[in-house]
Amino acid sequence: MICPVCKYDMIVVEYQNIELDYCNNCKGVWFDSGELELLLKSQGLEEPKAFFDGILNSQEAASPEKKRNCPVCGHKMKKTTIGGQPEILIDICRDKHGLWFDGGEVAQLIRRLAGEHPPKHDSREQVISFLEEVFEAPE
Ligand SMILES: [Zn+2]
Ligand SMILES: [Zn+2]
Repeated sequence: MICPVCKYDMIVVEYQNIELDYCNNCKGVWFDSGELELLLKSQGLEEPKAFFDGILNSQEAASPEKKRNCPVCGHKMKKTTIGGQPEILIDICRDKHGLWFDGGEVAQLIRRLAGEHPPKHDSREQVISFLEEVFEAPE
């Protein structure tokens, strides 16, 4: 898959049988809806459809950041925030193909590790926690 930011070929990173597409150049991460479904199901959380609807119905984030195109369908994605403190700015495909986390956002996730871990029953927090775990170990 091609990185929506810098157009490099992304590499597949597997963790707990869930595959993510990772850009080695800009450090961004694509979380495909199919993989998201596996994660939510493995945790007994809500359906991915409800997960996407919840995020898509939330407010668009005002951000100076450029809009990203979905690496699956090429359409412009919606910018919004998920998570509590701090909020994480993400891009989400309106056709529910997946979520994009910019490299800086992933770094933000990792910094959260030093802080408290949020409750695991919240599916958005679960997604964030999962990414924290994947990128916890430095290369
Ligand atoms: Zn990239
Ligand atoms: Zn799409």
